[in-house]
Amino acid sequence: MIVIIDQGASDHQIARVEQVLKDRGYQVHRSDGSQQTVLGAVGSPESPVDPRDLEMLEGVREVHRVQRSFKLVDRACQPEGSVIDVAGVRIGGDEFTVIAGPCAVESREQMLRAAREVKSGGAHILRGGAFKPRTGPYSFQGLEDEGLKYLREAGDSQKLPVVTEVIDAKDVDLVGRHADMLQVGARAMQNFRLLTALGKSSKPVLLKRGMAATLEEFLLAAEYIVANGNPRVVLCERGVRTFEPWTRNTLDLSAIPVLKKLTHLPILVDPSHATGVRDYVAPMARAAAAAGADGIIIEVHPEPDQALCDGAQSLDAEQFGALMADLRIIAPAVHRRMSVAPRSLTRTLESPLFERAVLIGVGLMGGSLALALREINAVGTLVGVDVASERAAIESAGVVDKFFTVEEMAEALDGADLVVLASPVESIVETIGKIAPLLKPGALLTDLGSTKQAICKAAERLAGKVAFVGGHPMAGSERRGAAHANPLLFQDAAWALCPVGDIPSQILDSWRSIIERIGAHPFDLDAQRHDHLAAAVSHVPHLVAVALANSVGRLGEQDPMAGQLAASGFRDVTRTASSPYRLWRGILGSNQDAISQRLKAFRQALDEIEAALGSDERLDQELSEAARHRLGMRQDGLGLLQAEAEIIVRVEDRPGALSLITTALAHAQINIRDIQILKVRQDEDGVLRLAFADRGLAQQAAEVLRAAGQEVRVPG
Ligand code: PEP
Ligand code: MN
Repeated sequence: MIVIIDQGASDHQIARVEQVLKDRGYQVHRSDGSQQTVLGAVGSPESPVDPRDLEMLEGVREVHRVQRSFKLVDRACQPEGSVIDVAGVRIGGDEFTVIAGPCAVESREQMLRAAREVKSGGAHILRGGAFKPRTGPYSFQGLEDEGLKYLREAGDSQKLPVVTEVIDAKDVDLVGRHADMLQVGARAMQNFRLLTALGKSSKPVLLKRGMAATLEEFLLAAEYIVANGNPRVVLCERGVRTFEPWTRNTLDLSAIPVLKKLTHLPILVDPSHATGVRDYVAPMARAAAAAGADGIIIEVHPEPDQALCDGAQSLDAEQFGALMADLRIIAPAVHRRMSVAPRSLTRTLESPLFERAVLIGVGLMGGSLALALREINAVGTLVGVDVASERAAIESAGVVDKFFTVEEMAEALDGADLVVLASPVESIVETIGKIAPLLKPGALLTDLGSTKQAICKAAERLAGKVAFVGGHPMAGSERRGAAHANPLLFQDAAWALCPVGDIPSQILDSWRSIIERIGAHPFDLDAQRHDHLAAAVSHVPHLVAVALANSVGRLGEQDPMAGQLAASGFRDVTRTASSPYRLWRGILGSNQDAISQRLKAFRQALDEIEAALGSDERLDQELSEAARHRLGMRQDGLGLLQAEAEIIVRVEDRPGALSLITTALAHAQINIRDIQILKVRQDEDGVLRLAFADRGLAQQAAEVLRAAGQEVRVPG
């Protein structure tokens, strides 16, 4: 019986209804959805309650007698679909979840590699059987306990939850200690002892459909688990036996919409066991996504041809990657989100290059560097130093192993062989003076400041004692603080290095290789030249933006139309004027000489333009020269990427035009690095500039888009 509770009912009223049902001998399962609360009353008491009596109780909206044999898994019992959490990964709702990995755990190495490969393909959960229910007694039966350990280690190594099969009720505890989700195989779907034991487990269950089970029997098997106390069940359609021998089973895709109607439990599809043939796996996986499945479970093996079990139906990493690219296109088309695990740095070091690294300043930059250093295994212990008031924020962000306040500097620096000054640029010179006597001889000292001359000059006094390499990674974020630290912050950033004095090449090479491993591009630059160029390309342009914003802003105070007329061109050139000025103050203050020089040059350029105003010819000269310079420059935001790595695409003015372009590239697994709309006018086509990691990819992208009927130009 299903009792639907009134929206305004009080807890007291609901409790009373529950009590009435229990008194009559029903078991009551309460489900609180965001829209409504429903009580499911199950059991067959001797004197069943008359639904009309229940409807008289306060707080009850309606009562339905359930004619179906399954009750708790009935959608009527919970109109909103359930969302099952598997160690942080959600199955159900608007999510499309992918479980991937080999059929069986075969060895530690095989699992570690499989985990790495499925993670990089974008899987959310790792699979692998340790107990294998094989049709014949002579086939490989699984590594059992040992396999569970390899599976766990492999999942942990890639931060993936793991699912594995349990074939006997007596193993539920053992397997539950190692796995995040317990699988019931097709052959065990009606092992009622096992289902009952899983009902008492605290782990979510992946229940596969028996190869000759009707949907009713399938749901009754799920009902066993839920009725015994475990509501976290995910169904899996994996094909049923038919007369057709060309596939291992026949995938019953119509089970998806039918089950969606009958039950609130999420439904996955296993295209591997359904077809048994590698070539048929991807088409059926795509079809499952399109038909509304909540995800797939799929067999992926590092070397399918060597697999001890089900190799013929296993995909390799590349085939899996291609399928995932397709699924990423299909999922949103059927209103599903396919969460993409954050990318991680994969160029890990065998052993740390530095024993103890100290970051002085653990804000966004310092915190991000700490995370990146840890991900690539570059340092043994990571120590952070900052003001005491930041302690809580830094500790809760978990970016360093140990925290010390600036007052505890001596203790923090004790034994450090790498010290990174990551505090705001204006404080670095002073810090160098303070820490100089505390540094371990031979240590590497570096910084992340945006200007280099004053810092490198202050570091000259350290010559012969420690190795100082000034550094400036050209990366940043609108966000502040360790809480927003991101190990990928330095991806593709140019990273200027200014070594001071003679530095042992081994130390410099270590630091360079670390910078490369965290995804950035190091290059040497003399400090004076660095600051002069930074003034020219960054500091003065910012001041020009400030001057323009001020002059137009002040004009606007007299004539409000000024603000109205300021269109996208004005917004483009003044964009940096609204960035956090406190940061800029420190940068500008530390580069005054170079900025003055560049401002003079800029004033001169303005004077020349003013003088040219009266003459068409001179004005033409100025304008055409500027266009030439501008076109010859690297595009903003691309760091060291070459200008050649871009293409220009025309975009028609109609809904979905942009998605055709991005979808075609996604399908070809080509990553867009940067995207910019060059021209948009109402009712007129736009022009899109797309940038790619290198020239080869840009060419490939152009071919893909042309084949898809787009008009593409490759500049240069
Ligand atoms: C498996 O997932 O490895 C498996 C044995 O599947 P099924 O129980 O669906 O045959
Ligand atoms: Mn298998």
